[in-house]
Amino acid sequence: MTIPEPYSIKRGTISLMSCDAEPVHTPGCIQSHGVLLVLRRGDLTILQVSENSADHLGKAPDALLGRSIAEVLGGEHDTALARFVEQEPVEKNPLHVFSIEFSIDATDAVDAQAAAPPDPRGPLDALVHTIDGVIVLELERTGRAQNRPDYYALVRKTVTRLQTAQSLRDLCQIAAEDLWKLTGIDRVMIYRFHPDHSGEVFAEAKRADLAPFFGLHYPADDIPGPAREIFRKTWVRPLADARGAPSELVPLANPDSGKPLEMTYCALRGASVMYTEYLENIGVAASLTLSIRRGDQLWGLVACHHEQPFQADFQVRAACELLAQVVSLQLVAAEQREQLEYRLALADVQRKLVERAATEGSIAPLLQGTPSLADAVGSDGTALFHERTWSTVGRTPAQADLDALVAWLRTRGELDRPPHLYVTDHLGEAHPPAQALRDTASGLLAASLAHGGRSFILWFRAETLRMVNWAGDPGDKPVRHGPHGPRLTPRRSFELWQESVRGHAVPWSPADIEAAGLLRVALMELVVSHAERLAALNQELQRSNEELDAFAYVASHDLKEPLRGIHKYATHLAERAAEGTDEESKERLSSVLRLTVRMDSLINALLLFSRVGRTGLRLERVDGNELVAEALDLLGGRREETRIEIRIPRPLPTLLCDRVRVREVLVNLISNAMKYNQREARWVEIGWREPTSATPLALYVRDNGIGIKPRYFDQIFKIFKRLHGRDEFTGGTGAGLAIVKKVVDLHGGRIWIDSVMGEGSTFFFTLAPESTA
Ligand code: ADP
Repeated sequence: MTIPEPYSIKRGTISLMSCDAEPVHTPGCIQSHGVLLVLRRGDLTILQVSENSADHLGKAPDALLGRSIAEVLGGEHDTALARFVEQEPVEKNPLHVFSIEFSIDATDAVDAQAAAPPDPRGPLDALVHTIDGVIVLELERTGRAQNRPDYYALVRKTVTRLQTAQSLRDLCQIAAEDLWKLTGIDRVMIYRFHPDHSGEVFAEAKRADLAPFFGLHYPADDIPGPAREIFRKTWVRPLADARGAPSELVPLANPDSGKPLEMTYCALRGASVMYTEYLENIGVAASLTLSIRRGDQLWGLVACHHEQPFQADFQVRAACELLAQVVSLQLVAAEQREQLEYRLALADVQRKLVERAATEGSIAPLLQGTPSLADAVGSDGTALFHERTWSTVGRTPAQADLDALVAWLRTRGELDRPPHLYVTDHLGEAHPPAQALRDTASGLLAASLAHGGRSFILWFRAETLRMVNWAGDPGDKPVRHGPHGPRLTPRRSFELWQESVRGHAVPWSPADIEAAGLLRVALMELVVSHAERLAALNQELQRSNEELDAFAYVASHDLKEPLRGIHKYATHLAERAAEGTDEESKERLSSVLRLTVRMDSLINALLLFSRVGRTGLRLERVDGNELVAEALDLLGGRREETRIEIRIPRPLPTLLCDRVRVREVLVNLISNAMKYNQREARWVEIGWREPTSATPLALYVRDNGIGIKPRYFDQIFKIFKRLHGRDEFTGGTGAGLAIVKKVVDLHGGRIWIDSVMGEGSTFFFTLAPESTA
């Protein structure tokens, strides 16, 4: 079995569509501005060395491998190194041991080094760490200037400034600006990751002449998983020259273990081909990347870009690292404060909404005014479905789509069980028909406000794509392909990102979801208590109606008896008075008699009226023709008197009603039609109107009588209300239409009048509620 050669970025033939597979932690190469030596822990023998050793140390790998490091560094440094490794905790933690002036003109004799002129490229900084049982010695050529700024003072100043930050954005902006000043790099960006690993430039400080990247969004693929994993472990990652050729380790595998060198923690680690190509595509030669972490998670990065090669030596890096750590620590506090403020703002909106709902007695008006339901959760549009009506504000789907959406939501279980919310930032995935609505409804946060899906609030978020600036090629620039194809161009990057966010909205934050849940509970109490109040009122009303009926019944019943007595005695008196009493007394006696008769008929009417509501309806299917025939029979005598023509234009339908009571209705209406008519040729027409989608079937009784003025249309249904003198139109008690209305009401129907004075009137009535049409 042959062991495969370890990976090297120099020889790598990695598939560029699978950048997640690139072994970025074992690149097999380093950046060429330094030398890397791998030493055996026990005897400090050189096991591996980068192929460019002659450039910095004057000796090719062959001359170094198998030798002791003492031969390279000279006695003093060699001892320092050995002691350092013994005493310091350098496992995975590169520390600076010493700086060394190295002249390649005098490499052969260690003693000659001291006398040789210094290398114009500056001293070599020696960084050491241990990993997997070996010592990794990195000698980094710094090109460092003599006048170094006081990094300690700079860092201290920044730390003080960071403490004044009012918000997360503020914190990041201060960090960006101060890092920009400290490093002197062209552009410093704070890049924030989203839960899907895509990200945005959250803060930026840059050379004035560069175009801003602030606010731009990038796809997750721009910083692939393995790279994110390295940033989770290390604080700082320098890349001095993306265009420089990498130097490979000789040999590629450790001769003792046969393994490639784990280089996660190396300052000189060779950069991923993906990354160097990417930087080249955006015209950047050098970068310095710092991690910002929340706990052990990567929150974001500080990405520093320079157009020219740029070397940040270990001192600069240490200062940057410290700042990245301070920002990471403060971030949690700033985020918590920000979330708290957001929560407080939402809670304030909620309190005001609940107050308004309580005073207005309904949630329907809450979509208007400030604050409105739309402010209760961060959204682009809000729709409220209440009492079978939609009201919307902001960007929402059209009503038909809302209906369909609610129908679909009703079929799902989420709204029926706690917390009675449905939350998605990718509605099209859960409900494919909603893909067409992604402009308005990629994100949906739905709350049900009543059991049985009667009331909902829907908050919508539009597709992220529409809402953000993207970092892709806007299309007017030519497509540039790198040596590995189009994958790493900004345009391709944007396309990938577009695919990944298509149909997605910015996810709902825990604060949003919590606010929706709390608001739901508060409003639901109102909706329920409102419904309960209505039900209680209805019950109360029914009870008092019943009591009233009972009272009217008892009262009229009890009144009849004394009335009978009065009538009897008055009749006696009148008989006796016939002989001797004067005319005036006789007339008064006959008035008493007439009044008792009138009172008797009023009491009878009241009894009749109160009886209508006292027993429940007995609904049955009744042939309308039979019912009219019966009513006409009951009116037989009067019909002949008035010689009225009865018209029934077409047969009547079957009706679902209380036979006896509806017959009473017809008797009343037909008798009125006969009564309130002064024409020679009188007629009354009994007919019906087809039901429509909105109204149930209506019966009507029409006459060519005297007509009724519109202002009396409502009044004549009140008990004892008459429009005429007692003796006009053969008299009457004024209770007939009140009884008619009561019967119609009991059936859930409606009665109304159409009339023209002098021409005639039509009384329409239905016997079922409108909605069951
Ligand atoms: P009553 O007929 O006993 O007076 P109703 O309650 O039946 O009592 O009618 C109330 C009033 O409505 C009547 O007094 C009459 O003035 C008016 N009215 C009822 N029906 C008609 C009609 N078909 N044409 C004109 N007026 C009418």
